[in-house]
Amino acid sequence: MSLRSIRHWVFDMDGTLTVAVHDFAAIRVALDIPAQDDILTHLAALPAAEAAAKHAWLLEHERELAVASQAAPGAVALVRELAARGCRLGILTRNARELAHVTLEAIGLADCFPVQDIIGRDEAPPKPHPGGLLQLAQAWDVAPAQMVMVGDYRFDLDCGRAAGARTVLVNVPQNPWPQLVDWHAADCGVLHGMLE
Ligand SMILES: [Mg+2]
Repeated sequence: MSLRSIRHWVFDMDGTLTVAVHDFAAIRVALDIPAQDDILTHLAALPAAEAAAKHAWLLEHERELAVASQAAPGAVALVRELAARGCRLGILTRNARELAHVTLEAIGLADCFPVQDIIGRDEAPPKPHPGGLLQLAQAWDVAPAQMVMVGDYRFDLDCGRAAGARTVLVNVPQNPWPQLVDWHAADCGVLHGMLE
């Protein structure tokens, strides 16, 4: 299957469509999470009241980042091109859906992604779990093998592989995970060029 022939595209958001700004080490310090722990997994295991308070802090912290989001190189033109070709477009993010919408507004792409096709951490188990991708496959009535997951981190690739989808790695100059990647592009601008 050629990249050009794929009609169903799912994007990670932070660091893929935007310039990465999350300081996960600082978030762990602020929320008293051990350095080696996954943030969302750690929060999920806390007593309900503490988890709720820390989720609220995280949401406010991420809201400030979302409002100030900047598009990654080539991301806006790539997404607009895919939309113009009539491709189905979704977002699968470990961020919250409402903040995904704020972020997409800030970079000028909100009109390209239907709200129901933005899957955040409250709509599906977080990546690397494939649940969110499979949810989109079902909603779009398409086999996962006909979809591509575009991301900048291992979780995106693991998620794509586990769902049976194709994978694209962007914004990482050297590909550290060749066994998980079907296509690698330096950034979304280069990926756009691969659609010619
Ligand atoms: Mg990312």
